[in-house]
Amino acid sequence: MSARFPSEKTRNIGIMAHIDAGKTTLTERVLFYAGKIYKMGEVHDGTAEMDWMVQERERGITITSAATTFEWRDHRINLIDTPGHVDFTVEVERSLRVLDGVIAVFCAVAGVEPQSETVWRQADKYRIPRIAFVNKMDRPGADYFGALRMIRDKLGGISLPVQLPLGEEESFIGVVDLVEMNACVFDAEEGLGAQYRVTEIPDEMRETSEKHRSELVATVADYDEAVGDKYLHGLEVTPEELRRAIRTATLDVRFVPVMCGAALRNKGVQPVLDAVVDYLPSPSDVPPVEGTELRDGKKTTRGASDDEPFCGLAFKIVTDPHVGKLAFIRVYSGKLATRTKVLNSGSRKKERIARLLRMHANDREEIDAAYSGDIVAAVGAKFTTTGDTLCDIGHPISLESMDFPDPVIFIAIEPKTKADEDKLATTLSRLSEEDPTFKVRTDEETGQTIISGMGELHLEVLVDRMKREFNIHANVGRPQVAYRETITETVEDVQGKFVKQSGGRGQYGHVILLIEPGLSGSGVVFVDEIRGGDVPKEYIPAVEAGVREAAESGIVAGYSVVDVRVTATGGSYHEVDSSDLAFRIAGSMGFREGARRAKPVLLEPVMAVEIVLPEKFLGDVIGDLNARRAKIEEMIPKGDSRVVTARVPLAEMFGYATDLRSRTQGRASYTMQFGQYCEVPESVFDRIVEKSVVGIC
Ligand code: GDP
Repeated sequence: MSARFPSEKTRNIGIMAHIDAGKTTLTERVLFYAGKIYKMGEVHDGTAEMDWMVQERERGITITSAATTFEWRDHRINLIDTPGHVDFTVEVERSLRVLDGVIAVFCAVAGVEPQSETVWRQADKYRIPRIAFVNKMDRPGADYFGALRMIRDKLGGISLPVQLPLGEEESFIGVVDLVEMNACVFDAEEGLGAQYRVTEIPDEMRETSEKHRSELVATVADYDEAVGDKYLHGLEVTPEELRRAIRTATLDVRFVPVMCGAALRNKGVQPVLDAVVDYLPSPSDVPPVEGTELRDGKKTTRGASDDEPFCGLAFKIVTDPHVGKLAFIRVYSGKLATRTKVLNSGSRKKERIARLLRMHANDREEIDAAYSGDIVAAVGAKFTTTGDTLCDIGHPISLESMDFPDPVIFIAIEPKTKADEDKLATTLSRLSEEDPTFKVRTDEETGQTIISGMGELHLEVLVDRMKREFNIHANVGRPQVAYRETITETVEDVQGKFVKQSGGRGQYGHVILLIEPGLSGSGVVFVDEIRGGDVPKEYIPAVEAGVREAAESGIVAGYSVVDVRVTATGGSYHEVDSSDLAFRIAGSMGFREGARRAKPVLLEPVMAVEIVLPEKFLGDVIGDLNARRAKIEEMIPKGDSRVVTARVPLAEMFGYATDLRSRTQGRASYTMQFGQYCEVPESVFDRIVEKSVVGIC
């Protein structure tokens, strides 16, 4: 029986970074020093421990958010892997939901890059305390104070160094610890930096170090009475006191301690782990989780205590080759034991937790129970998908569900052989269970299987996984934009009538609808306001189903209609001839007829694009963006580069990576993420509608 590990000694953390800042390298070093992996792999030879899926290794990017447990200074640290690529921001959001603290990694040369900014803002949204690690201090052009300035200017808040670099670029050898007021020199050759020497601060660094320490003390003095008092009276603050004050300030989210190192050179990694223990919150430091009681719909909270009933969030589903479906769960309150039943509050189904596993980098440990604040993987939760709440059957609660954006891009997929065909459907449904932004459907007209997701790369990665993990070979079509339709005007008194009364039992369904534009993001809202039994209540669900079916299949070009409010205001029925079917058809006919009159328009996904490029290519790149119907928002100088931000329709962005590369001799980089759905201009509208009529879309 595993003993209860103290909650105060647990840390649930993630590492966030712009792609290439060194997150994978840092993670590996962390696991190495924590004694979990004994051979260090480097990203370029593809043995990074957290990147456990083959094609991630090949791409050198991390997509899943698997959780890995290790120990440091008598603390248990659960590291949730967060992806670095922008097509996967939803993965970042989902891991942020279950993290308590974050290490934000920056490159000492590039400083704050677009993606780090996006992720930082997400961490702000969830009020997650963080420490900043300025990596790659060994690189030519590394500039710690430049990076610090950017962190302050671009990201806001109060960020102050708790370390200064010792030496620079090639001669970077370690760090000055402003809390202890000593220096750590790392010996990269001996034991891969596992040993480091603590020495006096070199004379030439003394003055700067004292200046920065005073600034640090002055800033965090407000957060700790003892430090505040000593500061006021000009007395020396002890390292212990200063650490306590930094911790309180960091937990308050307004303050970020900044550290530096070179993960690849094995320098500065252990102090980051110390900082995780010293400054980042334990599950007992964070506010209770909020949720809704299933019994009465009342808002409630659950604290990180074993005495409260169990509740947890399944934040990641992974299909594991050894044990099948694994649900990664953050336990918020109570105790989750194996061989017990819990309630899935989304599906209202009972789940039996067969086994619980604690995942280490290269082994897994079977445990009997998990307690509040912990992160574990459960086997046996059959009906659970990402974002579901699991809870004590006697105390049902639903934690705030995760927001997953709807897919913006789709492709047709076709199995190559009969054998592939058999496996395709089950594999696709498994993958979509793991990833809620990946959807599968069958096109009713063509019978084709259509998969949709958040971007070209997202779908490419999934098709790749099918090939490698499940050995399914498939042909895919050209990526297509997931357009939507909506209406722009209100129409009243729309008659949906389906009557067939010629001999025998007939059909009779009749509803009157009011169709109005709905709120953005509201989907299809159906309201029943039929009074006086004009249509018996029992037929209303059939009317609603008919309306939804019609909305799903579209009005102008076959894309689903969204943001529309449909109110059933009246109708009539026939004692004998009325049926569910008749009312469903009436609802569907009414919606189609009304929506057609309500000035329907097409909506297209518009992406937020950010491009960093050398000044001399600016004219060419902007010209090209304009041809892609872009709305340029900003062009900001950054060193000798420019950062261009723009809104560009997804339809115009296919193959942009290659195009930008050739236009700028490979010297530009860009990131893109979904912005919002906007109305398609008339000229483009005609093109899309025409295409859909000839059956290409
Ligand atoms: P990620 O995309 O954030 O996971 O970054 P990686 O860990 O994959 O690192 C990106 C590249 O930077 C790799 O080629 C690493 O070898 C390199 N790198 C990582 N850390 C350092 C460092 O401290 N110094 C230098 N010079 N290169 C580094």
